[in-house]
Amino acid sequence: MLETLGNSLKDAVKKLSGKTVIDRAAVDELVRDLQRALLSADVNVKLVMQLSQSVKKRALEEEPPKGMGVRAHVLRIVYQELVRLMGRPGEVSLEPQTILMAGLQGSGKTTTTAKLARYFQRKGLRTGVICADTFRPGAYDQLKTLCDRISVPCFGKPGEPDALAIVREGLSAFRRQYEVIIIDTQGRHALEENLIEEIIQINEIAHPDHRWLVIDAALGQQASEQARRFHEAIGIDGVIVTKMDGTAKGGGALSAVAETRSGIVFIGSGETIEDLERFDPDGFISRLLG
Ligand code: GDP
Repeated sequence: MLETLGNSLKDAVKKLSGKTVIDRAAVDELVRDLQRALLSADVNVKLVMQLSQSVKKRALEEEPPKGMGVRAHVLRIVYQELVRLMGRPGEVSLEPQTILMAGLQGSGKTTTTAKLARYFQRKGLRTGVICADTFRPGAYDQLKTLCDRISVPCFGKPGEPDALAIVREGLSAFRRQYEVIIIDTQGRHALEENLIEEIIQINEIAHPDHRWLVIDAALGQQASEQARRFHEAIGIDGVIVTKMDGTAKGGGALSAVAETRSGIVFIGSGETIEDLERFDPDGFISRLLG
C-alpha cells in the first residue's frame, strides 16, 4: 500500500543523513524529490506545491529543537506537513445516526455500505440499510445478499424508479427500530447532472448526520473533481478510500480529502465484509516515512 510513495519519500529524506546544517541547496533537492514522489503518486498539483512551499520555508527558517539532529528535524517537518495534507481523521460516533453514501459507480460504495453496517453492528448498534440505487440493475440484490450474510435488514424496492420515495419509506420504516441507518445511493460512470441532482434531493429529505464520499484509491487526478462536485452538492464530511489493499497509489484520494476539507473516516482493505479499517493518519504516515 502506497509503497512506492513511501520509498521515494524515504530516499528523499535519507539524502540529508550526516548533514549538520541544511543549506538552501539541500532543501531545494529535498523539495524536488518530494514533489516528484507526490506527483507520481497522483497527489493534486496544487497540494504538492502548497506542501513543498511549507516544507521549504520551515526547513530553512525553523531551528531544530535542542538535541534534535538536522535530519530528524526536517523529517518531522515533512511528517507534519503530510499529516496536514491528509487532514484529521473524520469523526465516527456511536450515537444513533443516518449516513448518506455518495460516490461513482465502481468506487465500492455498495460493498462499503455493507461493511459499515457490519462495523456498527459489531459495536452493538441496531443497524439498517436502505438501497436507493434505482439506476444500476441488480443493485438491491447485491446489497441485500451482503446484508443477509450479517443479518442486517435491507430496505429496497426493486423496480421502483423513484429513489426519493424509497428513502422516505425506508426511513419511516426504520427510524423507530434502528439506531444506525445507512443509505446507499446510485452511482454513475461519470458526474452527470441527474446523479448530483438526485443526491441533493435525497440529502434534503433524509437530513443525514453524515455524508460520506467513497473514493477508489486507484483514482488519479479525477478524484479531486469528484470530491469537489459531491462536496458542493451535499457537503461531504468524511471520505472512505477503498481498495487500499491493491496496488493503488492513493494520492488521488488524498487530494479528494483535501478538496472536501474533511478527513478519511475509513479505509477499505479487501473484498470481504470485514475488510474495513478506521483510519489512523499518524500510523499511516509513519509507515510511509518508515
Ligand atoms: P459500487 O458500484 O460503487 O457500488 O461498487 P461495488 O461495491 O459493487 O464494488 C465494485 C468492486 O470493487 C467489487 O468487485 C468489490 O468487491 C470491489 N471492492 C470494493 N471495496 C474493495 C476493497 O476495499 N478492496 C478490494 N480489493 N476490492 C473492493
